[in-house]
Amino acid sequence: MTTHSVDAVWKNCLTTIRQHVNQQSFKTWFQPIDPVKLENSILTIQVPSKFFYEWLEEHYVSLLSKTIKRELGEEARLEYRIVVDNGGSSQNAMTFNGSKTGKQQADKSRQVTEGMYGNIKNPFVIPGIRKLEIDSQLNKNYRFDNFVEGECNQLARSAGFAVANKPGGTAFNPLVLYGGVGLGKTHLAQAIGNYVKDNFQTKTTLYVSSEKFTNQFIDAVKQGSINDFVHFYQLIDLLIVDDIQFFAEKERTQDIFFHIFNHLHQSGKQIVLTSDRPPKDLEGMEERLLSRFKWGLTTDLQIPAFETRMAILEQKMLSEQVDIPREVVEYVAYNINTSIRELEGAFVSLVAQASLTRKEVDLTLAKKIVKSCINSISRDISIPFIQKTVCEHMDIDMEKIVSKTRKREIVQARQIAMYFCKQFTDQSLKKIGGAFGGRDHSTVIHSFQTVQNLAETDKDYHRNLIQIEKVIKMSMA
Ligand code: ADP
Ligand code: MG
Repeated sequence: MTTHSVDAVWKNCLTTIRQHVNQQSFKTWFQPIDPVKLENSILTIQVPSKFFYEWLEEHYVSLLSKTIKRELGEEARLEYRIVVDNGGSSQNAMTFNGSKTGKQQADKSRQVTEGMYGNIKNPFVIPGIRKLEIDSQLNKNYRFDNFVEGECNQLARSAGFAVANKPGGTAFNPLVLYGGVGLGKTHLAQAIGNYVKDNFQTKTTLYVSSEKFTNQFIDAVKQGSINDFVHFYQLIDLLIVDDIQFFAEKERTQDIFFHIFNHLHQSGKQIVLTSDRPPKDLEGMEERLLSRFKWGLTTDLQIPAFETRMAILEQKMLSEQVDIPREVVEYVAYNINTSIRELEGAFVSLVAQASLTRKEVDLTLAKKIVKSCINSISRDISIPFIQKTVCEHMDIDMEKIVSKTRKREIVQARQIAMYFCKQFTDQSLKKIGGAFGGRDHSTVIHSFQTVQNLAETDKDYHRNLIQIEKVIKMSMA
């Protein structure tokens, strides 16, 4: 067998590899490799980090293996040497033989990351400003003690509290919180973070929105500092990523997140994620990432019932130290039934208006404000708004009204909601039927007529209808 020079062999390998990967990947993952040794058909290459090695193994193992065998024959093997930078001048190298070995590997990776700590770039730090500790990026105002509990958020809250008391130590890892806009996902996720920060001083907590994460990753790619980026995230003990629906269709970001996720999960670190929809409805998300979520607990936050909305407003009054007559609070809580954010918005403008005009907060003012709030909400969501209002009034689950159920009280609520949709929105009959679990336009017409007939013949029914109409009309005025 002829003796090959290691550099020449590696140069040939690179020529082959270049033909199989795009330029960006080549630059990122292959150019930084140093060939160090070739002995007995074992080619040793030096890579800048543990993460780099894992990435190669995960994404390029078959390409590497084929290429090397082509150069050196079937016997050929690849070994990695990983640079550990201790922050000083001396460089240690660790050698892996290219096959993953479970637990041992995870321990070693910890060694590597800890060794790297001093040199990792923190993507949250603006260049020029030195920061020694990792700032959690948390908003201190989001806490468990000002998160009002109700049926709408009970499971999510108690799971969150369990996680906060034992980060990484419960079955809820990852904890995935989902729900519509303004229902408390960010509040709850941050409450977990703040609790851990206050009670476990040694743990590093980090809150990041998925958008920020994505942008940091893009910057890291541009600056050639992907390793630093990943290492930074691998140092975190509690990682909270808010609104992961923004990861959809961003394959490369998902890839890197998957990698960080696995590392953290394997090392017993806690992950908390939020999303505006259930994971199964996250289109453009990699299946392997979605399947990881099943390892933990996925739970939702729902629209709070009237009593919970009252409790939230009462708590707001307490913390803002204002006193608002009960009938006004009730009026606001009753009429704003879309999200807690809207509820808070109405409350804030109520207090602001009152102090601006030096007027008492009374029902007249409340009506004016609620009207403008609901107006701005209802313009584009009037069908769901009507459905919600009707369900709330008739004490029925939103889901049922769009389901196939033929139960009497549900059919009745469904008919009433359809009736108001036809009356108060400019949506087509087809669109309205569609919004009720895919029913057709003739069902809508039939419902409309039924409601009209009943209203003419049944007094109680009529009274009931008028009450609902009042609430809806306020938002349409
Ligand atoms: P999301 O992230 O789901 O869009 P947020 O967490 O931003 O919603 O909540 C919107 C607003 O409502 C925030 O000001 C938050 O403090 C408040 N809020 C949400 N849920 C609750 C709750 N259960 N108790 C008190 N305030 C809440
Ligand atoms: Mg949010």
